[in-house]
Amino acid sequence: MDECIFCKIVNKEIPAKVVYEDDKIIAFDDINPQAPVHVLLIPKEHYTSLNDISEENKDLLGHILFKARQVAQEKGVKESGYRIVLNTARDSGQDVFHIHFHVLGGRRMTWPPG
Ligand code: AMP
Ligand code: ZN
Repeated sequence: MDECIFCKIVNKEIPAKVVYEDDKIIAFDDINPQAPVHVLLIPKEHYTSLNDISEENKDLLGHILFKARQVAQEKGVKESGYRIVLNTARDSGQDVFHIHFHVLGGRRMTWPPG
C-alpha cells in the first residue's frame, strides 16, 4: 500500500526503532509511547485490520502474539506484566489502518480501558 505509513516502515522508507524483525513481521517502538514500554508488532504484508485476516493467514496472528511475549521479555516487562492491544475499526480508536498489536508495559494499567 503506497500511502500506508506502516508499509513505509516495513520498506525502510521512514525510520523506526526496530526491536524485532523476521521474514513475516516487524516490531518497533511506538513514536508516541503511552507507557515506558510501548512496542508495535505488525505483519510485513498489508492487512487493514483484524477484519481483513482470513482463514488462510490466521497463523500470522499466533506468530505475532508469540513474538509479542518475546518482545515483552526483552524489554524487561514479561514478569511484571504487559497489555496487548489490537484496536479494530472505528469505535476502537484505530488510527493506522495496517493491523498492529500494541505491547504496553512498565506501569500499572487501569481497567476498564478508556
Ligand atoms: P492505533 O490507534 O491502534 O491505530 O495506534 C496507532 C499507533 O501508531 C499510535 O500509538 C501511534 O503513536 C503509532 N504511530 C503512528 N505513526 C508511527 C510511526 N511513524 N512510528 C511509530 N509509531 C507510530
Ligand atoms: Zn500497510
